[in-house]
Amino acid sequence: MEKAMIGKTRRAANASTARKSCAACGCANTEVFYRQKGVPVHSVLLMETKEEAQNFRRGDIALAFCERCGFISNAAYDPSLQRYSPKCEESQGFSPTFSKFSRTLAEGLVSRYKLRNKEIMEIGCGKGEFLNLLCELGENTGVGFDPAYSAGWDSRQGDRVRFVSDFYSDKYAEVGADLIVCKMTLEHVGRPGELLSAIRSSAGKRPGSALFFQVPDTTRVLYELAFWDIYYEHCSYYSTYSLRSLLSRCGFLVTDVKKDYDGQYIICEARPGDVSVPEALAGRQELESLKFAVRYFAENNAQKISIWKKKLKDFHSTGYRTVLWGSGSKAAAFLTTLGITDEVGFVVDINPYRQGTFVAGTGHEIVGPSFLRDYKPDAVIAVNPVYRDEIRLELASLAIEPALITL
Ligand SMILES: [Zn+2]
Repeated sequence: MEKAMIGKTRRAANASTARKSCAACGCANTEVFYRQKGVPVHSVLLMETKEEAQNFRRGDIALAFCERCGFISNAAYDPSLQRYSPKCEESQGFSPTFSKFSRTLAEGLVSRYKLRNKEIMEIGCGKGEFLNLLCELGENTGVGFDPAYSAGWDSRQGDRVRFVSDFYSDKYAEVGADLIVCKMTLEHVGRPGELLSAIRSSAGKRPGSALFFQVPDTTRVLYELAFWDIYYEHCSYYSTYSLRSLLSRCGFLVTDVKKDYDGQYIICEARPGDVSVPEALAGRQELESLKFAVRYFAENNAQKISIWKKKLKDFHSTGYRTVLWGSGSKAAAFLTTLGITDEVGFVVDINPYRQGTFVAGTGHEIVGPSFLRDYKPDAVIAVNPVYRDEIRLELASLAIEPALITL
C-alpha cells in the first residue's frame, strides 16, 4: 500500500471547505486551504537504506487556518504515526552560517538576562548544542528535554548539563529555571496550548524567570509559496500574531517579538504574566495580512509546484545532472511534493551523520560535498537560500562550477 504511493503525492484539485476546531484557540472558524496526501511522517530520521526510506510510514497534510487567532495546523495530523528518537539527525551546527547565528543568539540571552551561574532549561533541546553553549558561556547549569537526545553527540557536554530523553510535560513541572528555552519545538506539537500551560506552571514557580521561544515564520512561507516548508513533522504553523496570541492566552507576557535568520524564524521573549487576563493584542492588521497570505498561497501554490516540476524535467531531458544541497525536511518535502525521482541525482549534506543515508519518501542518497568532485553536477539547488554563500565557497573549493540555484 505504502509502496504504491511512492512518487504519487497529489495535491487536491480543490481545497476542501471542511471545518475543524482550531488546535490553538478551540474555535470552529477554521478552513483547510492546502492538502498533500501520503507524505513521510518524519523527514530528519536517518534512513539506512533506499528501501527503508521509500517505504517509510506516511500521513496526510490538510493545512487549516483559524480566522480568529491566525493559527495554522495540520488538521490530518496523527501523532501516533510518529516516533521521535535519537535516530533523528537534525543538527545544522556543521554550517558556519548557522553556528554564527546560534552563538550570537546565545550571547545575547546570556547578556540580557545576566545568565551567570544560573539555571537554564531547554524543552526540545535536540542534541543539546544550544543548551551546552548557553551553559558554557555563562557557567550556568542546565537541563534539557528531548526524546531525540543522543548521549555523547556534543563533546562539550560536562557535568553542568543533564538531559532527559523524554517529551516535556506536567510531570516535570517541579523543574524550575531562570531561563526556559523552547526553540524550534512548538511547530512539532499538535496541541501547543497543553505544552505551554505546563511550561507556564514551571515558570510561575520561580519569580523573575524569562522565556525564549523560536519557531519558523509561516507568513514568509505563504508569500514565497514555499511548499517545501510544509511537512508532516511540522503540524503547527505560526505567525508573529498567532504566536503572541497563543502565548498570551497561556498566561505569558510577551516582552519582545521579531524575525531573524533572513526572516525565516520568529524569535520571541516573554515573562510569566497573568493567566486570567490575556494581554490585549494590538495588530489586527497583522491578522488581516495573514488572511491575505493564506488566500494567496491557496490560489498560487499549484502553479509554483508546476514550475518546479517542469524545470527539473527540462534539466533532466537536456541531460543535466542536478543535485539538491541540504538533506533536511525542506529537501524531503520538496522532492516528495514534486514526486521527483531521476530528475535529481543526489542530495548533498555537510552533516557527516546524514551522509550515506537516504531521504525519507523518495529515497535519494545523501552524499558529502566531496562526492561532487567526480560527479560534476550541472546544477546545484540550494534548498535554503541562507546558505548560498557558504555553498558557493564549498563548490569553489571543489573546483567545480555548476549553476547554483536557490529555492
Ligand atoms: Zn484559533
